[in-house]
Amino acid sequence: MALAIFQFPCLSDNYGVLIHDEATGRTASIDAPDAAAVTAALAEKGWTLTEILTTHHHPDHTDGNLALKAATGCTITGPDYEADKIPGIDRKLREGDVYDFAGHPVHVIWTPGHTLGHIAYHLPEDGIAFAGDTMFALGCGRVFEGTLEQMWQSLTKLAALPDETVVYCGHEYTESNLRFALTIDGANPALVARGEEVKKLRAAGKPTVPTTIAAEKATNPYLRADDPAVRATMKMPDAPAAEVFAAIRTAKDNFK
Ligand SMILES: [Zn+2]
Repeated sequence: MALAIFQFPCLSDNYGVLIHDEATGRTASIDAPDAAAVTAALAEKGWTLTEILTTHHHPDHTDGNLALKAATGCTITGPDYEADKIPGIDRKLREGDVYDFAGHPVHVIWTPGHTLGHIAYHLPEDGIAFAGDTMFALGCGRVFEGTLEQMWQSLTKLAALPDETVVYCGHEYTESNLRFALTIDGANPALVARGEEVKKLRAAGKPTVPTTIAAEKATNPYLRADDPAVRATMKMPDAPAAEVFAAIRTAKDNFK
């Protein structure tokens, strides 16, 4: 049976997500930005938390771990690569591991760059993925711990998921990502059209997340590093795509 999914905003610009299997009652929180917000979301849905699936160690993704574990007895699963930084972790996962969530396989994709141990979760049978702070709508995470080359490889892995995959991201950054994307790829009609949609959604107080792999491949400037128009903007017609990506990501770091 299809999983029920509930996304809710929390902290200043994070998203929390709960996934729930009706038959077994299992409920997972993808990251735990804030225990009170996760608890309120659980209460709103009438679900009982059984597990937390952590994408990476940053406090705005793990601050709720210990309080939620104490309150519910939930297990905490996360990346082995940075397990020492994840409060309360019980089960450590690596690239290629498959976690069973109530009969739904959850594939682990190691996506270093934003942090060195960051992982994404892909549920192929459900057509969904949780990208944490690796891929955003029209954007990608800032490269804090890894190299730009690693981040490029990580985004390439996510971009290789099926086009129709619905992608949940850790933050609502889309409007600011849009402003930057238009400076890189402003002649792309798909980006311009999406930009109008994004502005409408945000003006109405609605989320622009989740997104899809197809939408990101068509409009996300980082995933379009190999596109001739993007290369032309960056004045890098012949450089390897990874270098074009690195130049775009560096330009964003300095974009006001
Ligand atoms: Zn982060």
